[in-house]
Amino acid sequence: MKVFKFGGASVKDAAGVRNVAKILGLYREEKILVVVSAMGKTTNMLEKVAEAFYHKNADVAEQIKPIREYHLTIMNELFSDKNNSVFDTVNNVFAELEWATDGEPTKSYDFEYDQIVSIGEVIATRIISAYLNETGLQNQWLDARDYISTDDTWRSAAINWEATGKNVQQKLVPLFASGKIKLAITQGFIGVTSENYTTTLGREGSDFTAAIFAHTLPASDVTIWKDVPGVLNADPKWFDNTVLLDKISYRDAIELAWFGTSVIHPKTIQPLQNKNIPLFVKSFIEPDKTGTVVSNTENPQQIPSFIYRMNQVLISIMSKDFSFIVEKNLMEIFKTFSEAGIKINIMQNTAISFSVSVDDDQYKIPALIKTLQKDFKVVYNSGLELITVRNYNQETIERVTVNTEILLELRSRKTIQLLVKNLD
Ligand code: ASP
Ligand code: MG
Repeated sequence: MKVFKFGGASVKDAAGVRNVAKILGLYREEKILVVVSAMGKTTNMLEKVAEAFYHKNADVAEQIKPIREYHLTIMNELFSDKNNSVFDTVNNVFAELEWATDGEPTKSYDFEYDQIVSIGEVIATRIISAYLNETGLQNQWLDARDYISTDDTWRSAAINWEATGKNVQQKLVPLFASGKIKLAITQGFIGVTSENYTTTLGREGSDFTAAIFAHTLPASDVTIWKDVPGVLNADPKWFDNTVLLDKISYRDAIELAWFGTSVIHPKTIQPLQNKNIPLFVKSFIEPDKTGTVVSNTENPQQIPSFIYRMNQVLISIMSKDFSFIVEKNLMEIFKTFSEAGIKINIMQNTAISFSVSVDDDQYKIPALIKTLQKDFKVVYNSGLELITVRNYNQETIERVTVNTEILLELRSRKTIQLLVKNLD
């Protein structure tokens, strides 16, 4: 049994949905669970609905309108029979959205966010499932919330692995084993609490959903279908002559994802590695190309990979009285970062200072600095780039540091990280 994941970019319009059908047509003999994200930029649009509902900075109905129109356009193109029940089904989902945004918010913003934003995945799967059925790919629409059980950390819910495993074993495995279905379509990104409230797993979380299903089934393999040929050694946005990594280890994949390669969500690898399930990253434009396989390979390629994180701020924290920065201060500093929800990308300490680089954020960073300034002297430097090179050598270091000033450098056996100021 296989798990496939199609992201928002792959189903951003009617042509995308037709292409998904074409790809699934190549695998008619297989049992497949397909995990789908919201179409195109729907999640961003739904975030605006959540903001309008909670912060009242815009009219909710006005924010819902383009989302409805966007999906209607896709449906009108896909279904010539306007009596197809999918029109009613999707209409009902929008009615639910209107209902969820009627009246006053009752709980926290993050709670309301999950109830609203999760709807994008529900609509996408309704449309795709109906289209596949219409075109001869018999499938079952499944609600991921019948399986993916989480805690109530809204917007980044933690998986309850025990309950999820049970759900999958008791309800999903028999469904496929009975031979009743071969193809099922479900949502990425969403889960449910024990009290039956919808949760989300964090932006771009659909890859993680695919891995959770694969782990608990367990599946023979997972394929993430992308608009790139696989995992490349650099982002083509910044680099010419990128190289496809055709075979990488779980360890490489997790490191690359962690440092910021956007192809795979960082949480995806661990559930697969634990069950030794290979992950294929393939192009939905050229589905017969092999792409990248992430597995327990003994001989991973040693090609240097480049990861750029733009828009970094270097924050240096010093004691006010020239005393040492010791564990006790560090504890306080880490706590401040953690409470502000700011992820440290790299860090370094000396006797009297502690420096970190973080993603710039016009609201969070000034607030963080203000808090730190109560106890420490703080200086900062923005507009920087963090360059990570995995499998580096001298030549690659020279290549990425042309015309830059290096402000911080961190080296391990396989990875170098350079925080630089671009001088051109
Ligand atoms: N639709 C969600 C997002 O845009 C989840 C995903 O795409 O993986 O973040
Ligand atoms: Mg996405």
